[in-house]
Amino acid sequence: MFEKVLIANRGEIALRIHRACREMGIKTVAVHSTADADAMHVRLANESVCIGPPSATDSYLNIPAIISACEITGADAVHPGYGFLSENAKFADILKAHGITFIGPSGDHIRLMGDKIQAKVTAKSLGIPCVPGSDGAITTDEQAYKVAEETGYPVLVKAAAGGGGRGMKVARSRGELSSALSTARAEAKAAFGDDALYMEKYLGQPRHIEVQVIADSHGNVAHLGERDCSLQRRHQKVLEESPSPALNTAQRAEIGGIVSKAIKGLGYLGVGTIEFLYEDGQFFFIEMNTRLQVEHPITEAVTGIDIVREQIRIAAGMEMSFTQDDVEFSGHAIECRINAEDPKTFAPSPGTIKDFHTPGGLGVRVDSAVYSGYRIPPYYDSLIGKLVVHGRNRNECLMRLRRSLHEFVIDGIKTTIPLFQELVNEPDFINGEYHIHWLEDFLKKNA
Ligand code: ADP
Repeated sequence: MFEKVLIANRGEIALRIHRACREMGIKTVAVHSTADADAMHVRLANESVCIGPPSATDSYLNIPAIISACEITGADAVHPGYGFLSENAKFADILKAHGITFIGPSGDHIRLMGDKIQAKVTAKSLGIPCVPGSDGAITTDEQAYKVAEETGYPVLVKAAAGGGGRGMKVARSRGELSSALSTARAEAKAAFGDDALYMEKYLGQPRHIEVQVIADSHGNVAHLGERDCSLQRRHQKVLEESPSPALNTAQRAEIGGIVSKAIKGLGYLGVGTIEFLYEDGQFFFIEMNTRLQVEHPITEAVTGIDIVREQIRIAAGMEMSFTQDDVEFSGHAIECRINAEDPKTFAPSPGTIKDFHTPGGLGVRVDSAVYSGYRIPPYYDSLIGKLVVHGRNRNECLMRLRRSLHEFVIDGIKTTIPLFQELVNEPDFINGEYHIHWLEDFLKKNA
């Protein structure tokens, strides 16, 4: 097992990783920007190293500074969390070249899945159903028209290097397609430095359902069920639940089996998530994330498995601590992403937290790295905490979620808590009847 893990991240996920390490008796190194000198994970880690100024490019994305921090502290592994360098194949390769373990899959697997065109081709070859669309990159308008005629309008133009919902454009007719292509191309070039595009049929009212998978170097593979992440704003997840209100046990076992088989075929190592759109009883692959996800705690809640601990075990060459037969799904879990944002306009609301009181009690987990008196720096993501509630069934989970949201106090800044307080009393949400566009429709109605 590793002696010392360097956590190449910040915020709640850095603390989450620290907790797993600490429980396993592994020492931790926190790296931080000058803006994060007072962060909770920096205080709790065994050692800390300042790696640069506030800008993420100069700190959390600064590979040479992070490698130096590993060398100085003698860390034998790096956990990248999510975001930042977590899906950077070059980072994984450089660490390997330095004899430091990247807690994640191989650079080659990251590279393969990071190119969404290649990812789709690979998924298809492994027997995973995909959204109908172009079989590869779209280079000319003529080619795009042809694909659109085959799949039918509306279509979605997507960036091969896409992420965070950027570089995606809908075209509802032939007339809209040419400008959708040029806008998406420009956006992709600016955001990712790569303007390769592909096309998919635009599904009208699907749900976003993703499957958590895990594989070790001893040939063990398992899936941990699904998460329904259909409540989104601007293609970004806002609230997630597990299990999905739309699936039954047989459907879960079926898609889980398909995904596990594919992961085995891929020779994948570590944890990953296969994302699907689900419409009219059918699954359509959209992408694979080769990292730990923000919403992993709802899966932990319904399976009792510590996903970060398993990640670390697998990276250290050990077997995962369970097999598929050991996985039991129990009850229902919901996660609310608490952002430092205005709950109506979603404008960022950095500032000093005057008072911070988290809810507690049976089935309530809060993953957050903020505290009373903490000043939220304006340079990073607005996620300041995750409220994760578990109940024996969906109704108990909802009752507990309402109660927890009522208890949660964050004073001094605006947060998205009031949005969730409204959502938990909304009949469609209570009935589990929603799709990926539902939340934006709801927000428009309530604006
Ligand atoms: P990103 O990597 O930028 O997050 P994804 O491919 O994961 O992009 O898609 C993000 C979200 O965009 C999905 O959860 C869904 O809401 C929407 N989306 C993606 N592909 C389609 C599609 N073919 N039809 C309708 N919506 C889609």
